[in-house]
Amino acid sequence: MSDYQKAIEKRRTFAIISHPDAGKTTLTEKLLLYGGAILSAGSVKGKKTNKHAVSDWMEIEKQRGISVTSSVMQFQYEGCCINILDTPGHQDFSEDTYRTLMAADSAVMVIDASKGVETQTKKLFKVCLLRHIPVFTFINKMDRAARDPFELLEHIESELGIATYAMNWPIGSGKDFKGVYERDYKRVLAFQGGDHGQREVDSVNGDLNDLKIRNLLGDDFHAQLCEEIELLDGASTEFDQNAVSCGALSPVFFGSALTNFGVEPFLEHFLKMTTSPLPRNSSAGEISPFDEAFTAFIFKIQANMNKAHRDRIAFMRIVSGHFEKGMEVYHMQGGRKIKLAQPQQFMADNREIVEEAYAGDVIGVFDPGIFSIGDTLCNTSKPISFDPIPTFAPEHFARIQQIDTMKRKQFIKGITQIAQEGAIQVFQELNLGMEEIIVGGVGVLQFDVLKQRLKSEYNVDIKLDILPYQCVRWIENEGLDPNLLNLTSDSKRVKDLKGRNLIIFANNWGIKWAAEQNKELILAEVGTIK
Ligand code: GDP
Repeated sequence: MSDYQKAIEKRRTFAIISHPDAGKTTLTEKLLLYGGAILSAGSVKGKKTNKHAVSDWMEIEKQRGISVTSSVMQFQYEGCCINILDTPGHQDFSEDTYRTLMAADSAVMVIDASKGVETQTKKLFKVCLLRHIPVFTFINKMDRAARDPFELLEHIESELGIATYAMNWPIGSGKDFKGVYERDYKRVLAFQGGDHGQREVDSVNGDLNDLKIRNLLGDDFHAQLCEEIELLDGASTEFDQNAVSCGALSPVFFGSALTNFGVEPFLEHFLKMTTSPLPRNSSAGEISPFDEAFTAFIFKIQANMNKAHRDRIAFMRIVSGHFEKGMEVYHMQGGRKIKLAQPQQFMADNREIVEEAYAGDVIGVFDPGIFSIGDTLCNTSKPISFDPIPTFAPEHFARIQQIDTMKRKQFIKGITQIAQEGAIQVFQELNLGMEEIIVGGVGVLQFDVLKQRLKSEYNVDIKLDILPYQCVRWIENEGLDPNLLNLTSDSKRVKDLKGRNLIIFANNWGIKWAAEQNKELILAEVGTIK
């Protein structure tokens, strides 16, 4: 294998997903701790100290204690080069997470051991299914009262419709969470120390029959563990790496991110079982990460990360080839060659100029306002474009108007740019055009951000009225005139900035009516550009 191939082969690019509060930020931090990327883990979101989690950076995040945007963090561990794509924890910003999953090759799903699968877990899992990427489950907070582990596995299987395979098994829970049993090595890891999660934990390991282990666990826990392992081994699911690779079987790990118990064994197993960079589909067929020509797509645009600079950063996932600083690439949608200015990699609010990067890596480049989500960059003799990134249906809608009508230009510029970043979706009423602007978001907090950004970046005040709509569907039929559709009076015909026709509905009943009354109508929940 050439050095070039090795560099790609050792890369692991994944996203961590969870329902808010399940422990995604804490786990991310602990992975960074074990990767040596940070020296001590700060208490997340200033609940214990004033330190913010390393992945939070925007002002609004600090104010609200939530992470709004995804950041990308790279670190090395045991010969692997790891890219963690952090995702916003708050569900109001989950569209950003959906798109980030498009750039990931696998996902780690964090589940709270007392709560199990929650609403946001389900939505995010659906997006993973769309891509058939491997999904690993980390059942977190085992240091608290937890549901029975057998019950948890069954619950995940029935709620998400995925098979599970417990890679390790918890020994006790709550104050008595003593360690885990690793099924592949047939050994017990009994945890010790850990300095309340600030530093790495020590563990004593040994065979199930080892006297030292038996004494450490105590007779009762030892007997219970033996019994549970027997039950588990007798259960039907077999471990099947192929099923893991195509997302049909989720390996499950038990642990506690807060106390670091189980974090390192998780990381080690995960890195072995997850995938190196995956190919992506394009107009020229599948592009392999090992293709020498540089190709990448933009999955995220982030404005204003640094107040002093008021800049805009486009994040791209490199699909193939090798990136070098100062390289010229062809921007497919812009139709011209550009020099990628100030290529950067991120570690929370630290930025580093990237000298080189490989397939699987994510880099941010300065965006003078030319990029949109889904754009392709390449360095081949025959330009290609990657499959578009789907647009996910917003669930909240508002009508917006600028207060000072003289500022029409800034207003249109502002909402167009913010929509290009994917921070909100903009719809125009079909027969009114830009006179009536409706914005859509996955959560209402997106509207607050819109309002705040229009004011601070574009100097435009807006009036925002929440509308009583709940769902939107893209009309898939080509050439169908939406005006001819028979719809309930509370449905609205609109188009998006890409000119696609949609219908906004007050509720699911409206969708049902539309389908019943218009037999030819094809509605889609996820929009893709044709
Ligand atoms: P996120 O919203 O998914 O990113 O969740 P956080 O990582 O911010 O965690 C939410 C809360 O749960 C914080 O107060 C954490 O300290 C706490 N937490 C996270 N992991 C654990 C854990 O393993 N055990 C316990 N007891 N608390 C945890």
